[in-house]
Amino acid sequence: MKEIIVVGAGYSGAVVAEQLASAGHKVRVLEKRGHIAGNAFDQKDEHGVLVHRYGPHIFHTNSDVVFDYLSKFTDWIDYEHRVLAQADGALHPIPINLDTINGIFGTSFTEDEAEAHLKSIREPVDQVKTSEDVVVSTVGRKLYEAFFQGYTRKQWGLDPSDLDATVTARIPYRTNRDDRYFTDTHQAMPADGYTAMFERILDHSNISVELGVDFFAERDRLKPSHIVYSGPVDTYFDQCYGALAYRSLRFEHEHIADQDSYQPVATVNYPNDHAFTRITEFKKLTGQTVSGTSIVREYPTDDGDPYYPVPRPETQVLYHRYRELVNKERHVTFVGRLAQYRYYNMDQATAAALKAARTLLDGIA
Ligand code: FAD
Ligand code: UDP
Repeated sequence: MKEIIVVGAGYSGAVVAEQLASAGHKVRVLEKRGHIAGNAFDQKDEHGVLVHRYGPHIFHTNSDVVFDYLSKFTDWIDYEHRVLAQADGALHPIPINLDTINGIFGTSFTEDEAEAHLKSIREPVDQVKTSEDVVVSTVGRKLYEAFFQGYTRKQWGLDPSDLDATVTARIPYRTNRDDRYFTDTHQAMPADGYTAMFERILDHSNISVELGVDFFAERDRLKPSHIVYSGPVDTYFDQCYGALAYRSLRFEHEHIADQDSYQPVATVNYPNDHAFTRITEFKKLTGQTVSGTSIVREYPTDDGDPYYPVPRPETQVLYHRYRELVNKERHVTFVGRLAQYRYYNMDQATAAALKAARTLLDGIA
């Protein structure tokens, strides 16, 4: 069969490329950035600290299939993510847990008492539709205002009442003292970093990778048998129905030479203060021992690279118009966070790519 073109060397592109190459197909990966690994790209900064250029990436999954697949390309370091959020002048665990509740209400509730208190303050909602509904109907308005309203307005440029419930539903609440951000069965960081893992995924004699190449600049010259596209879906169709909303971030990286530790946990959220949403300290994610420390602040913005699809009814309507075009484009597979317009985590992007590759291979066979 003729060469297959894969657009993008993030999870979606790299995993599909590996699966096709392993099945005997020649694959040419075009990546417009100067590196592989998409938004999971990591590299040592000039001070020798391994940093994630596009913000903190923590791997977590309940899927044995995804974990076993990626484990072919990396060893892992056990890591459980913990986050604190600043509210009322103090740091509290996020997701909300017993200590968060006692900290905000100045109480010393037991688990049962905390549950009873939440029951008395939660605001029943007939049908949970928005990101505000999810939070006020589970933990009430005071905790919503302390931790969710300001953060969400900053992160998305929208009030939680204008965003689908799925966004804040990513963050559960607990009345025990579990302070882990995730509870998945697999939680780990790739032992040599994400980029090293991607190098191994793409290291196949049937795969060639071209960096700094924009698919759209090459499009007219290419005669592939099939295209696997992991860029923004609206761009593929020249935004013929108008631009689809993607939220972006500006990352402010900083190295602090005279401090070995900057903050108590890897990530501290700032729901109500500052223009940035959170600060992440990389050494606390990777376990790296090196003197000095490196952090990143995330400033949400509408301009810049597309990072997040924006889950709300208006964007879904527009996305579904593009989906009709996608369905007609038989020689193209659209896969990934930008091309499928889904708020995928890394494991979900991997699962979607494995599925897309299987469908494609079944079609070729
Ligand atoms: P991407 O990683 O965006 O890759 C798409 C690639 O296609 C890019 O490299 C892009 O340059 C390339 N491309 C686009 N258009 C073209 C073109 N025209 N020509 C050539 N190349 C093109 N997930 C987790 O599981 N845990 C986390 O902790 C986590 N934290 C995150 C933090 C931030 C700040 C962000 C933004 C995301 C986070 N994610 C996290 C999500 C994770 O980044 C995604 O699930 C994953 O990167 C999706 O992979 P992808 O291949 O679909 O997309
Ligand atoms: N969120 C919030 N306060 C927090 C943490 C999260 O309001 O302290 C909301 C916010 O809308 C955010 C969403 O929950 O965008 C999902 O949070 P997550 O940490 O999963 O976001 P990501 O890491 O994908 O940026």
